[in-house]
Amino acid sequence: MKKCVFTMLLTLCLALTGCAARADDTPHRRTVFAMDTVMNLTAYGANGEAALSAAEQELYRLDALLARGIEGSAVYALNHGTATPDPELSALLDEAGKIANATGGAFDPYLGAVLDLWGFGSGAGENRVPTAAELSDAGPLLDLGGIAKGYAGQRVRAQLLENGVKSAVIDLGGDVALLGAKPNGAPWRIAIKDPADESAYLGILETAGDVYIATSGVYERYFEENGMRYHHIIDPATGYPADSGVVSATAICENGVWADALATACCVVGAEKALGLRESLAGTMDVELILVTADGRALYTYNGFTPGTSGVYNYSLVVDKGEQHG
Ligand code: AMP
Ligand code: MG
Repeated sequence: MKKCVFTMLLTLCLALTGCAARADDTPHRRTVFAMDTVMNLTAYGANGEAALSAAEQELYRLDALLARGIEGSAVYALNHGTATPDPELSALLDEAGKIANATGGAFDPYLGAVLDLWGFGSGAGENRVPTAAELSDAGPLLDLGGIAKGYAGQRVRAQLLENGVKSAVIDLGGDVALLGAKPNGAPWRIAIKDPADESAYLGILETAGDVYIATSGVYERYFEENGMRYHHIIDPATGYPADSGVVSATAICENGVWADALATACCVVGAEKALGLRESLAGTMDVELILVTADGRALYTYNGFTPGTSGVYNYSLVVDKGEQHG
C-alpha cells in the first residue's frame, strides 16, 4: 500500500513538472496603426490572442478620444467648447497639470496653437517659421501629443493584465511599455535609438519589467528653412523649438504618462535641470534618465544601461548625490 501511494505521488510530481515545463509562453503578435504610429504588440501565453484583440480596440478608442484633429474626440470637443469634459480626459488633464508643475512649465499640454503655427499641429498646415507676434498671440489650445502614447501604453498594459496576460511588450513606435517579467526569466533587453543615426543604437537597457521607456528627440520631426533646423519640441517659455543642448532624452519609469512627458520636458530644460528634476521627484517616483547632448555626451543615471560601442559618444554614469563618496 505504501509503495502504491509512493508511486501515485511520484506520478503526480512528474505530471506537475511536465505541466510546468510545458507552460504556454507562446508569443502572440499584433501590429496596430493608431496615433499616427505603427505599434507592435507582443503578448505571451494562452490568453494572448484575445487580449491583443481587446488591446487593439483600446488603442483605437484612445486615439479617437485624444486626437486633437479628430472631430468628435474629447480633446477636439474641449478645444471647441462644445462639450462638458469627458471624465477620463479630466483625470488625464489632472495628471498633465501635476507634470506641468513638477517640470516648472517645461511640459505644457496647452501648446496646440503654437504647434499649429509651426505646422507641427494635428490638422497641421505647412511647416514655417511663425512671426514673434503670431507666437505671442497664440492662445492656449490643448495638445496631448506629449503624453498620449504614454497613457495608451499604461492603459493597454493594465488591460492586458486584466485579460490574463502576465508578460507583454507594447512597442508604441519606439516607446515601450513592458508588462511583467520575460517568460524565460531573463531581463528584458531594449535598444535605445541613436539620435544621430537611425540604424544604430545608443546602447542597451536591461530591466526586469513593468516599466515604460520613453524617448523624445529633436530629430523625430523637423523642417529646415534658410539653413536652420526647426523641430517639434517647443520651449513653452519662448514658443520656439527647444534649444537646451539635449537632443534626445529617454525616461524610464513605472508610470507611462510621466515617462512620456518627462522625456519631452528633459529636451526642453537641458541636462543639468533634467538631472535636478529627477532628484526632486525621488521619493515620489523613481525615474531613470539617458540624455544625449548636442556636443556628443551621453549621460545616464541607470546601472542597467550598457553603452554602445560605436565610439561616437562620450558616455558617463551620473551617480546620485546621496551615493557619492568622499
Ligand atoms: P514626444 O514625441 O513624446 O516628445 O512628444 C512630442 C509632442 O508633444 C509634439 O509633437 C507636440 O505635440 C507636443 N509637445 C511639443 N512640445 C511640448 C512641450 N514643451 N510640452 C508638452 N507637449 C509638447
Ligand atoms: Mg513624450
